[in-house]
Amino acid sequence: MFQRRTSSIFKVVLRVPQIRRYRVLAIETSCDDTCVTLLDRHTVTAPPSVVDERKLTLNSVEAGGVVPKDAALHNRKSVSVLVKEVIEDHGWIGNNRPDLICCTRGPGMIGSLVGGYQLAIGLSIAWNVPLVGVNHMLGHLLVPRLATNGEEPKFPFLSLLVSGGHTMCVLSTGLMDHEILVNTIDIAAGDALDKCGREIGISGNMIGKEMEKFLIENKEQWGKFVEFDIKEPMQNNGERKNVLAYSFASFISQLKSSLGKYHNGEVQNEENKARIAYIIQTTIFQHMITKIKLAIKLKNLKVDSFVCSGGVGSNLQLREMLKEQLTPLGVEKFYFPEPRLCTDNATMIGWAGIELFEQGYTTNLGTSVIRKWPLDEILELDGWIKR
Ligand code: AMP
Ligand code: ZN
Repeated sequence: MFQRRTSSIFKVVLRVPQIRRYRVLAIETSCDDTCVTLLDRHTVTAPPSVVDERKLTLNSVEAGGVVPKDAALHNRKSVSVLVKEVIEDHGWIGNNRPDLICCTRGPGMIGSLVGGYQLAIGLSIAWNVPLVGVNHMLGHLLVPRLATNGEEPKFPFLSLLVSGGHTMCVLSTGLMDHEILVNTIDIAAGDALDKCGREIGISGNMIGKEMEKFLIENKEQWGKFVEFDIKEPMQNNGERKNVLAYSFASFISQLKSSLGKYHNGEVQNEENKARIAYIIQTTIFQHMITKIKLAIKLKNLKVDSFVCSGGVGSNLQLREMLKEQLTPLGVEKFYFPEPRLCTDNATMIGWAGIELFEQGYTTNLGTSVIRKWPLDEILELDGWIKR
């Protein structure tokens, strides 16, 4: 006779990680910013609160760009001071110390990374708390999920990660599953904006940002004629047109020769400067979008969510151009982190570390930093500990 099995046989023991409220110290020192954030993970069902974030940026105005050895010294000098200040100010010391440390392990400048990472290892030993060595680009990619506790944007989604050091279009299908669809073969878009801006007489620590400010103040010049010709990269030559790659270096040489030809290297007045800045900005942005559209077409992608993150990602014109040109291709939801979360920051490192930690990942203390760590090789790097 058929015997009904008792329900107890079918009792499933759910292995839910024992995660309760915990507090996080996050450190980012991959380039010229030293940034420290405290996050309170009150509960795993709601976004963590950002208790405090402090940042010290190397001043590179006179040097005309980030000098790696100056950035290394800046980070090594600043990081301990910032950590001490912020934990003392919030009383996160003694028995009240943080429960988890998340720190950028790479990619970035070795001299800069070491400053933060060695301190993180030291604190992890002293406090006897786990460490998560975070991929910097994963931080940029996941940060829009912070406000929604990882609910949005949901996998799969497409990202444009565009900063002073990186420019890539990525397809993400899971926390550790990322395919780089388009990457730069030379310099990053932010670097190109900074170099071009300097050529036309814009100054500051982040020239791309200053150029956007200048353009917003001179909106009436947008699209007006100026005797200046510059072409979108990789569109002249038939073969390169269909290559999934970015290239910005040739754009700078084009710009220099155009400037030299028409104006002997000088931009004569503010009107012309604004008109040329507009051409530079839109052409660089169009290059990025042209290749995203090509990737969608060649890979026959059907993705409805799109993230734009990294310093350049805070540019309003870029956001408008992305919405205008990707909506007809089926993208319905755009995620643009607020500007302070676009540029390098420790909040994004803390959030990426939280996502990894709650999936069971921490990092061995016998590890070091790494200059190159592609997003599609997150787990290939040594030192992961999986619960
Ligand atoms: P990151 O490397 O992510 O810290 O970003 C820094 C880069 O982003 C620099 O090249 C900046 O010039 C650039 N950047 C920051 N804000 C903007 C903006 N609003 N528009 C264009 N570029 C920007
Ligand atoms: Zn960055």
